[in-house]
Amino acid sequence: MPVANQPVWDDGSWTTFPPLHGSITTGTCVIGLGGTGLTVVEELLARGEAVVGLDAADVAAGAAGRNGGFLLAGTYDFYHDAVRKHGRDRALAIYHATLVEMQRIAEAAPGNVRFVGSRRIAADDWELADCQAQMAAMQADGLACEWYDAADGVGLSFTTDGAFNPLARCRVLAANAVRGGAQLFSRSPVTAVQDTRVETAQGTVHCNRVIVAIDGRLEMLLPELIGRVRTARLQMLATAPTTEINVPAPMYYRDGHEYWQQLPDGSIAIGGFRDHGGPSEWTYDATPTDTVQEMLESFVRTRLQVAAPITHRWAASAGYTESGLPVIEQVREGVWALGGYSGTGNVIGALSGRAVVAAAIDRDYAAVRVLLGQQWSPDVTQGRGA
Ligand SMILES: Cc1cc2nc3c(=O)[nH]c(=O)nc-3n(C[C@H](O)[C@H](O)[C@H](O)COP(=O)(O)OP(=O)(O)OC[C@H]3O[C@@H](n4cnc5c(N)ncnc54)[C@H](O)[C@@H]3O)c2cc1C
Repeated sequence: MPVANQPVWDDGSWTTFPPLHGSITTGTCVIGLGGTGLTVVEELLARGEAVVGLDAADVAAGAAGRNGGFLLAGTYDFYHDAVRKHGRDRALAIYHATLVEMQRIAEAAPGNVRFVGSRRIAADDWELADCQAQMAAMQADGLACEWYDAADGVGLSFTTDGAFNPLARCRVLAANAVRGGAQLFSRSPVTAVQDTRVETAQGTVHCNRVIVAIDGRLEMLLPELIGRVRTARLQMLATAPTTEINVPAPMYYRDGHEYWQQLPDGSIAIGGFRDHGGPSEWTYDATPTDTVQEMLESFVRTRLQVAAPITHRWAASAGYTESGLPVIEQVREGVWALGGYSGTGNVIGALSGRAVVAAAIDRDYAAVRVLLGQQWSPDVTQGRGA
């Protein structure tokens, strides 16, 4: 029987941080210790800032430690769609920025990232034509994209992408942060952010600024973002190690709705079918459901032709935005919000984290504007967006 709601990434080697008890004063309070929050902590420490980090559960207890482990360049949208939506200059600049960020992610946790590329596999003729449009747009802009035609499908191959263990990455970042002087607390759910006073179940943080780095459920803590960020449940499962198939690179299918990779030990980790789960997948609940799990298992058995037993089933929350671009804004004086990566936050989340620190501390807005456009402003938005 699979362990209940435990990701395949967890090797059980982690010792959790204690919860916050009592009152503490610091420079910046970072809420959420996923890949984004921990990148924020890293950037703050690099500037000599005093940092307290809080997590409701534990390091990477949310999507950051429970995702597909894909490191993909670009935005939520395929490149040609991003060009259409955001303009060619911005789409290209974001693509280049994500390529750089992927190298930083690899350097931060040596041995974790495998730059094995990725593949987009077309599910039907429409998607095949869309792959051709994507390839034309990417090649015109000098981005690595080749036609892929093999026994496991037809579509595109992207040689610059990669795969990693997302939980291991966050644990390395957290350990580095503590060594660098950050005070990190687990099991400390934030119940309220009152100006720059942060209340947890058993403590209070007094600080100069707050950076909320929660992707899924962001709008629960900052209700001014309701309507701008919407939380969905995404589900995955993993099989026991198998040699039944060989998946050399992360694969995504049906416009990215389904995604799978084979881990170094041979296990298959696969996610998807959120859209087939119906409206009930727009939820704050993050436990796996029979409906979606059965669809995933059926895909493993019939499409991938893998009979290995299922060892893990899990789910997590992810925040979605209408534009597919993240929310990066000062929603209240001294309170910055980050999230809404629309299911692709491993790289963009880290980029957003670096960008918000540059904006909040250095008053350097260039990195945010690469992501969100030249009109972006650091002014308080009260959730309306810049
Ligand atoms: C199943 C699944 C598969 C995915 N696959 C991929 C993929 O392959 N590639 C990719 O790029 N992206 C993927 N994503 C999206 C990606 O995982 C997320 O966008 C990214 O990890 C978000 O990281 P984060 O650090 O911003 O937020 P999160 O990981 O959501 O971290 C937020 C943290 O905040 C904590 N928290 C929440 N509320 C509070 C509170 N009130 N007080 C204190 N702490 C709080 C949580 O415990 C959590 O640890 C996937 C997501 C899911 C769910």
